[in-house]
Amino acid sequence: MGNRTVLVTGGSGFLGSKLCEELLKRGNDVVCVDNFYTGSKRNIRHLLGNPRFELMRHDVSFPLYVEVDEIYNLACPASPVHYQKDPVQTVKTCVHGAINMLGLAKRIGAKILQSSTSEVYGDPSVHPQVEEYWGNVNPIGIRSCYDEGKRCAETLFNSYRLQCDLDIKIVRIFNTYGPGMHPNDGRVVSNFILQALQNQPITIYGDGSQTRSFCYRDDLIEAMIRMMATPHEITGPINIGNPGEFTILQLAEMVIELTNSKSEIIRKELPADDPKQRRPDITKAKEILKWEPVTPLRKGLELTIEYFDALLKEDPEFCRS
Ligand code: NAD
Ligand code: UDP
Ligand code: UDP
Repeated sequence: MGNRTVLVTGGSGFLGSKLCEELLKRGNDVVCVDNFYTGSKRNIRHLLGNPRFELMRHDVSFPLYVEVDEIYNLACPASPVHYQKDPVQTVKTCVHGAINMLGLAKRIGAKILQSSTSEVYGDPSVHPQVEEYWGNVNPIGIRSCYDEGKRCAETLFNSYRLQCDLDIKIVRIFNTYGPGMHPNDGRVVSNFILQALQNQPITIYGDGSQTRSFCYRDDLIEAMIRMMATPHEITGPINIGNPGEFTILQLAEMVIELTNSKSEIIRKELPADDPKQRRPDITKAKEILKWEPVTPLRKGLELTIEYFDALLKEDPEFCRS
């Protein structure tokens, strides 16, 4: 698995930076491409001195010419707050970004992995979500730029496979959290932890009965690397996530308990098209990747709380930005 040159797009983001770190550890050269739309140099500063690591500032919606063996395509704002800020840019990143990275993979004969999302299932009527489920997605809602952008990217990956026999892999990532999350991406785990640590009100959108399944970062990265290593005929899509399902209210209570916080819980309006339930069926990942998550939510939250606690002390400005 080592000694390859690997391109990671979105490599300075939450997941991308950890992936770069892990690929370097396993003996690969890494080219990290990022336009710093939501990513931060802070995430990769510890890698900058490594001679096997190379950073390129570049927007994947424009063509890219590099020579590598493998491509992980992660470039894309991932939280609702970030991807809704500039929906047109989100679609361009998903669609033009996928076309360019697929064109690149085709030219150089590289394997290419797409980080897709559980959002392709929309507000799901099949529960838990299996890969065969086609989803329930609003094409013109506030989440559509991301949901439909990611669905179109899957179509592009599959079309390049059908037409050019490209070596493609698609993973559908369910909610993932951990150290390195952006403090202001508005996601539920980062919001609740920062609110709890500062004894500010915990903001539950709606009645808190909606569910999510939370996967710890390191578990997810391991699954992505295993997927890339599968033989040509394995293309996915494969769900990766933690099948433990929690209501948002349960998450709030757990965060309050683990931080020993004095925060009260307050309610805010539920955003439009907010999925009511989400839990991955990971039978395929277990069978094909011999993988399942090993970090329970409590343990993962403790590690994430440590990270945000340190970040608040080290760089309170960044936490407000
Ligand atoms: P993130 O926002 O931390 O990382 C995304 C990175 O992509 C950032 O560094 C950003 O600057 C970069 N980027 C955005 N647009 C770009 C462009 N046009 N050109 C180059 N770089 C660009 O988010 P993340 O949580 O690390 O997500 C990484 C990938 O995983 C995304 O594709 C996301 O859709 C997918 N994903 C994440 C989750 C999750 O829960 N974290 C769930 C499902 C899917
Ligand atoms: N592309 C790229 N890097 C490469 C090769 C291609 O960014 O090394 C881009 C190219 O600009 C094109 C896209 O990938 O827009 C799709 O390439 P493909 O060869 O599939 O299509 P074509 O060039 O025939 O339109
Ligand atoms: N949420 C919440 N309070 C917050 C942020 C999010 O109650 O401060 C809810 C949100 O409405 C959704 C769930 O938590 O039901 C997960 O939201 P997130 O933005 O993390 O990811 P999503 O899975 O919706 O893309």
